[in-house]
Amino acid sequence: MSATHKDPGLPVSNPTTPHWQEPLHPLADVSSPQLPETADVVIVGSGITGCSVAKTLLHRDPRVRVVVLEARGLASGASSRNGGHIISPCFSSFDELVSNFGTKAAVELAVFSERNIDKTFEVAAEFRSSGLVVESKIRRTEKVLAFRDREKFDRIKTVLELWNEHMPIDRRDPFHMVDPEEAKARYGMQNVAGLAVGRAAAAWPYRLWIGIWIQLYRTYGDRLSIETHTPALSVTALQQIEQPHQYIVTTPRGDIKTTHIVYCTNGYTSHLLPRLRGKLFPVRGTMSAQDLGSSVLNLGAQRSWSFDASPSQDVETGVVDPGLYYLTQDPDSGYMMLGGEYDHPDSIASSDDSKINPLSAEKIVDVVPRHFVGAKAPVVVSLWSGIMGFVRDGLPLIGNLPEVVSGRPGKGEWIAAGFNGYGTGYCLSCGEAVAEMILGKDIGWLPAVLLLTEERFGGSLVTRNAWGALIGEDDGVEEDESTRTSSEGSGAAAEVR
Ligand SMILES: Cc1cc2nc3c(=O)[nH]c(=O)nc-3n(C[C@H](O)[C@H](O)[C@H](O)COP(=O)(O)OP(=O)(O)OC[C@H]3O[C@@H](n4cnc5c(N)ncnc54)[C@H](O)[C@@H]3O)c2cc1C
Repeated sequence: MSATHKDPGLPVSNPTTPHWQEPLHPLADVSSPQLPETADVVIVGSGITGCSVAKTLLHRDPRVRVVVLEARGLASGASSRNGGHIISPCFSSFDELVSNFGTKAAVELAVFSERNIDKTFEVAAEFRSSGLVVESKIRRTEKVLAFRDREKFDRIKTVLELWNEHMPIDRRDPFHMVDPEEAKARYGMQNVAGLAVGRAAAAWPYRLWIGIWIQLYRTYGDRLSIETHTPALSVTALQQIEQPHQYIVTTPRGDIKTTHIVYCTNGYTSHLLPRLRGKLFPVRGTMSAQDLGSSVLNLGAQRSWSFDASPSQDVETGVVDPGLYYLTQDPDSGYMMLGGEYDHPDSIASSDDSKINPLSAEKIVDVVPRHFVGAKAPVVVSLWSGIMGFVRDGLPLIGNLPEVVSGRPGKGEWIAAGFNGYGTGYCLSCGEAVAEMILGKDIGWLPAVLLLTEERFGGSLVTRNAWGALIGEDDGVEEDESTRTSSEGSGAAAEVR
């Protein structure tokens, strides 16, 4: 069985420790003395997405009672193991979005995702009086997207033309191109084919998301129970679906009856929803905090970087190079917060963040000395891994679960998961959309292409293979018999990103 079709299991109990999570917040392990017996909504997972669902529900409906189940510490998953970049993936992949989903959907996605960045700042500002903005160091940055090969640099110029042709006027020209000479003289970058320089943002992710959780907990403590170290083990639908509590969520501390359950479990989702195996799968990312001393300037308050190359796989060793390294710099310590992969597919397609992709860990120390003029070899201050959720067609899975996915009757199961390594461009707005759907509000503002419909489940989640190159799979993906639907198997040729 290919790695993407395996049960990801529950989050392991002994994960690596990210630099971001030191020190842990005093309320990181918060729980009620007794697990509540009932809830209106159980949210599984306390990352950005779960936080957004909870915040929206609690803000918009004064009656709703929410229980959050988190297998480990509060906000300790990918949301605080990432690169700290607040960024939309839509610009650099705009050509693929257009060819995969059509121009209209691509434009909707790009506007939605870019708007999500502004929303992140708005949410942080809502809690300004708690010190969140200062604590989390949330800031706009000039984004330097450096291309390590000519092919990629040429492609981005075409992408920019396509973007400017179709995007609304106020979103045009998000990046400008810089040739290698100017890259060196003005941006201190070497060994690059060129740069695209535009906008992004950055933050200390753990402080941002746990900071918001704590404010919610203090404000809505009578209606919000946060239960850390309490994994959801299974979900059962009650037979009498007309009663208010349609589902039982089983945990090691007891059962909870609930009307709605929301899966904000990202790479682990298919443990609870086995029919999603092979369609939404875990990808292990590698991150580091590197000290380069005075050999690099501290530009962290105003700049962030990515290094992009064409993806490749070594035919002899099987090692995959997805081609991407991403980098923010802490404005106080000057540490380079750098991540990226270069490893065997079985290392990358893993849900175990107690281990680190070994080859990736070796490679990421070379990136800054190779590309920053004058940079010396770094001291690695901290090295960790985190689990992302990748989706076969390359887009997050949002909305009400059709029975063909949940395997259970009823309309109370929801999902917001599978952010393909770019959560800060999507999670907040997607969590908000799911909460509004639960409250029966209109979500016409959500790009319809993100919805997990029965059609998508049997369609692009089978026929596409957006991440085949990353995890070394071709289009001959093995399907678990139990996950087949009648429309599967007829698929068009897979696309490899
Ligand atoms: C190394 C790395 C680098 C990244 N860099 C960036 C970046 O720079 N910019 C960017 O935008 N995105 C980045 N991402 C992606 C981004 O972090 C994620 O897309 C985003 O955090 C997803 O948020 P989430 O809330 O959906 O998932 P998570 O934050 O992973 O939260 C899911 C939670 O569910 C819990 N859980 C799972 N199963 C269960 C269960 N059965 N019971 C109870 N709890 C459960 C987990 O413990 C976890 O806390 C990166 C990710 C990684 C791993």
